[in-house]
Amino acid sequence: MARYTGPVCKRCRREGQKLFLKGTKCYTEKCPVERRQYPPGQHGPASVRRRKQSDYAVQLREKQKVKRIYGLHEKQFRNLFEYAAARPGVTGENLIVALESRLDNVVFRMGLATSRRQARQLVRHRHIEVNGRVVNIPSYRLSAGDEVALRPGSRELELVDASLGARSRPQLLEWLALDEKKRVGRVVRQPTRGDIPLAAQEQLIVELYSK
Ligand code: SF4
Repeated sequence: MARYTGPVCKRCRREGQKLFLKGTKCYTEKCPVERRQYPPGQHGPASVRRRKQSDYAVQLREKQKVKRIYGLHEKQFRNLFEYAAARPGVTGENLIVALESRLDNVVFRMGLATSRRQARQLVRHRHIEVNGRVVNIPSYRLSAGDEVALRPGSRELELVDASLGARSRPQLLEWLALDEKKRVGRVVRQPTRGDIPLAAQEQLIVELYSK
C-alpha cells in the first residue's frame, strides 16, 4: 500500500490546525499553519471566505484529521472503526482507544520516538520487542500488562536518546510506565477516553460512517 510521502505540513494546513506530524520540529520550526492560515492549493485562500461548511464536510474533516494524526490509510481506519463498532460500549470512544493501543502509538507516547511516523519506523525496522519478542507490525494491538522495550542491540540508538532528551517531550500518560535507563515500558492498564489527550469529536466520525 502506498504511503503518503508528500509534504506533511500541507496536511495540517488542510485541517487548519497543528497536528504535530513532525515531532519536535513542530515546536522549533516556524510552523506553516501559523504563517499561512488557509488551506493549501490555488484556491486555498478563497475557500476561507466561502459559505458555511455542510454537516458532511465537518464530519469528513474530523475523520481526516484523526486519520492523519495516527498516520492511517482509509482502509485501515475503516477496519478499525468496524472493530470499534462491534465492541460493547460507545463506538467513538472504542475507536480512539483502539487507535491509542496500536504499537506505533504506544512507542511514541512513551517518548521513544518524537513522532508517530518515527515510532512506526522503529517498529518496522525491528527495533521493538513486545513481551520479549520482536514485533514489526505497527498496528499490533497492545493490552494491559504488555511490556514494550527496545531490542538489546537498539537501546543506544541516537534517535531514541534525542527523543527522550527532547525538551518539548510530552508527559508520560498515566496508563503507561517507562524505565528510561533500561528503555523498557509497560501498558499499566487499558486507557479510557478521558486518559487520551486528543482534541477530536469522535462522534462526528461515527455519524459519517453510519450514513
Ligand atoms: Fe504540522 Fe508540525 Fe508542520 Fe506545523 S510544523 S504544519 S504542526 S507538521
